[in-house]
Amino acid sequence: IQASMAGPGSEPGELSDSELLLLLEPGDQALQPGFGVRLKRAQTPLEKYYLKYLCVTDLSTQSWCEQQMVYGRELPQLQVPETVVLLNTGKSIHLARELEVHDVVRVHVTSREDSWAIKILNLLSVIPELQAGGCVRELPVFGVIEDVFLMGIIDELCYSATGELELRELKTRGRPFMPSGAQKKRDYFQVCLYKYIFDAMVQGKLKPDVITSHIQLRPEQPLGSQIREHAQKVGFTVTCFGDLLELMYLNLTLSDIPGIDCLKIEYSHQESNTLLGTEVVRFEEEKVREKAQHYLAYWKGQREVQGVEIEEAWKCQSCSYSEICDWRKKRAEGPEQRSGPKKSK
Ligand code: SF4
Repeated sequence: IQASMAGPGSEPGELSDSELLLLLEPGDQALQPGFGVRLKRAQTPLEKYYLKYLCVTDLSTQSWCEQQMVYGRELPQLQVPETVVLLNTGKSIHLARELEVHDVVRVHVTSREDSWAIKILNLLSVIPELQAGGCVRELPVFGVIEDVFLMGIIDELCYSATGELELRELKTRGRPFMPSGAQKKRDYFQVCLYKYIFDAMVQGKLKPDVITSHIQLRPEQPLGSQIREHAQKVGFTVTCFGDLLELMYLNLTLSDIPGIDCLKIEYSHQESNTLLGTEVVRFEEEKVREKAQHYLAYWKGQREVQGVEIEEAWKCQSCSYSEICDWRKKRAEGPEQRSGPKKSK
């Protein structure tokens, strides 16, 4: 029996994403004439957490352990205090670096469109610097992969001595040595996603309507007075949110800014502020897309959450959630206890 959820676009007799199969026995009430079967489709994680977009760091965190990322969202209070201190110190160092090249201006926002207008203005204001061959920090990037909107902030973009556009990601560490291979892998994925999104932006793939439809923003929404004033100060006359989107699209596509040529990650020790080492990351587009596809399948409800496989069980030893982790318990009980396909990445 096909029991279709009443909803726009559903035709009787057809199965779609929002339709469910029911197995019913003869005599079940649902088979009696006039009985309307209505089932609610299970929420995807994106819906469950009310997310219209994901951050690049959500995906890189997920690549360490997806189950841990989910616990981090649901039970942040269980995170060990050292992790919280490390994260906060890292944030302060990033802010200090940003303040070296930017002033922070407080702007009052009156709508969701105003909040997004600030991100877009931050991006617009650095395009001339990049065009002039300068160095920019904390550059917002937006894009769509697998029909999911992603947002991120690139630490630093600079031209190298040979004229290549170089992305530099700063990672601060609590310990005075370079990270393990697994930690580096997570960071590589993060910077590769930045390149993927940034390149698509400068190639004109991020059309204004992509942003408004994914984030559900209104292009006709008038911008607040403080946003308009601030835009004026940085050289843009705008009245509604759509004006800014058009400006962003035109500035990015007509600016002749190249794609990112080189990806680098600098690891430094938090306490002594000394550089521990620099990694140069190879970008393999197909692999990045495949990995993103795998992680986004969870967010879109196409598969169950997964924890680490047995070969990476060492990650559980330093995990804040090891005592309560369902995946770990099921792994201890045997592979047949786990639901969902075997992790392929
Ligand atoms: Fe992931 Fe292991 Fe932590 Fe569970 S205990 S969340 S599987 S790292």
